[in-house]
Amino acid sequence: MMPGTIERIFSGRWIAGPSISDALREAKKAQRYGIVPIVNYLGEAYKDKKSVERTIRIYIKAIDTLKARKLSFNISLKPSQLGILVDKGYCSKNYSRIVAYARKRGVFVWLDMEESSLVQDTIDLYEGEIRKGGVGICIQSYLKRSDSDIDRITKIRGSVIRLVKGAYSAGTDTAYNDRKDVTANYYKLMDKLFKRGHTFTIGTHDDKIIRKALSLNRIHKRDVTYAMLRGIRNDYLIKLAESGHKTTMYLPFGEEWISYSYRRLREAGHLSLLIRSLFGPSVKEL
Ligand SMILES: Cc1cc2nc3c(=O)[nH]c(=O)nc-3n(C[C@H](O)[C@H](O)[C@H](O)COP(=O)(O)OP(=O)(O)OC[C@H]3O[C@@H](n4cnc5c(N)ncnc54)[C@H](O)[C@@H]3O)c2cc1C
Repeated sequence: MMPGTIERIFSGRWIAGPSISDALREAKKAQRYGIVPIVNYLGEAYKDKKSVERTIRIYIKAIDTLKARKLSFNISLKPSQLGILVDKGYCSKNYSRIVAYARKRGVFVWLDMEESSLVQDTIDLYEGEIRKGGVGICIQSYLKRSDSDIDRITKIRGSVIRLVKGAYSAGTDTAYNDRKDVTANYYKLMDKLFKRGHTFTIGTHDDKIIRKALSLNRIHKRDVTYAMLRGIRNDYLIKLAESGHKTTMYLPFGEEWISYSYRRLREAGHLSLLIRSLFGPSVKEL
């Protein structure tokens, strides 16, 4: 579904546009600043194979299109767009197929993390591919299990984690529901990543966390990348890139903009942050 005017104001900030050529245009702009785009084709929660197969074709085409322009980029896949809700084995084959295609072409593949009921299956998918290289996974600090997930994943050579707070919610038995607790757990998990010495990505727009990561890295000297979502704090990401830090920007494209935009709207939390996100200096166009 294409956005109307109001939705376009919101989603236009966060989403490259409906087509691969929109993703290509925005990826090129990011690259000009030294920011590596993480290209994601919108769509999730598929329960039919037709939507899944269409998604695979579009990812393959996107890889070919961006590679033909000699761009350096990653892609990020949602398990529920690869058929995890259809059948786990089917999803695993689809994931491996895209990973193999991307790996051959030197494109790094992330697995997004979705709602809590899919976490174990997502980690299982990921673990099947880590040793062959070129793959990373998102871990969310709002989940209580993430501490032990990081312990387990970081023991596997070649694993790469992208740490985020989490854009979903779950009950208090499995998740932290208070924002302060989610942030406190982020600091704890980030500290663990620095101590373990793996290559990892800090995915946040929270300047306090980023400042802490920068200072930890002066001590530990790890291979850290700073990642933000397109259109939230572009200026800040550019500043980090210009200061010589590795940066990536999550760059969604496609027509299924509603769920993604809804999560961004929910996160803005209060109006002042939303206005800053939409109109403030922090949204300098890339
Ligand atoms: C690269 C990347 C990939 C992601 N992948 C996933 C995924 O796979 N699964 C998932 O569940 N979630 C994912 N997320 C989303 C993530 O979980 C959070 O929902 C999202 O990043 C918002 O959390 P935050 O850490 O930015 O902090 P928030 O708690 O939203 O914000 C913290 C602080 O950041 C500052 N800030 C935020 N926005 C602005 C603004 N517009 N202007 C000025 N200051 C601002 C403010 O100081 C604010 O108090 C991803 C995020 C990124 C960056």
